[in-house]
Amino acid sequence: MGLDLDGAYAWIASFQRRFEAEATELGELDRRAGDGDFGANIRRALRRVERRLDEAPPSAPGELFLGVAHGFLNTGGTSGPLFGLWFRGIGQASDAPAMTLAELAKGVDVGTATVQRLGKARPGDKTMVDAMAPAADALAAAVADGLNVAGGIALAADAARAGALATESMRARRGRAAYVGDVARGVLDPGALTVALFFDSALA
Ligand code: ADP
Ligand code: MG
Ligand code: MG
Repeated sequence: MGLDLDGAYAWIASFQRRFEAEATELGELDRRAGDGDFGANIRRALRRVERRLDEAPPSAPGELFLGVAHGFLNTGGTSGPLFGLWFRGIGQASDAPAMTLAELAKGVDVGTATVQRLGKARPGDKTMVDAMAPAADALAAAVADGLNVAGGIALAADAARAGALATESMRARRGRAAYVGDVARGVLDPGALTVALFFDSALA
């Protein structure tokens, strides 16, 4: 069984609820190592996503993720467009009524590669890529092991969480956190935490 349209809707709705609950704390991390607008940027993106899905209701999970991408791409801040590209990669991976784990894995891989190409961040630079890249690897391994969608997402969630937590001790080489140098050490990257929150939301 793949991820059907109802499942994809539930995933995004849960992501939105959980982000709302954490937005202030994530914005606070961006304040300590950036300019503090991260929570507001993503909140605004998620409201645009809601509007987009109402105006152009998707008929398949891939199309739903393209709607999510649309909402993010039209948002300010660095993270909005980068998340938009990531979700576009996921959306473009499937046009079937149910997205398979292989399609999700492919989409996350392509989306992560696009974020890396345009943002120029590599793993270890203290960005969202530090959660995206291990999640992509975990999904590919789950496909190779023949896991189902839920099992694969659970592994991706664990890998993304571990990657996000590892950003705490990193010195940023990309984004605003790079401007503050060692001051950002000891601060978790909010973009990476949001990737972990996204995968966690599928399981809630
Ligand atoms: P800003 O206020 O700097 O425009 P946001 O506050 O919206 O950006 O987003 C900050 C997040 O964006 C960071 O936590 C980090 O994960 C991510 N980020 C910043 N620069 C890059 C980059 N070059 N590549 C990937 N992610 C990045
Ligand atoms: Mg910011
Ligand atoms: Mg900003």
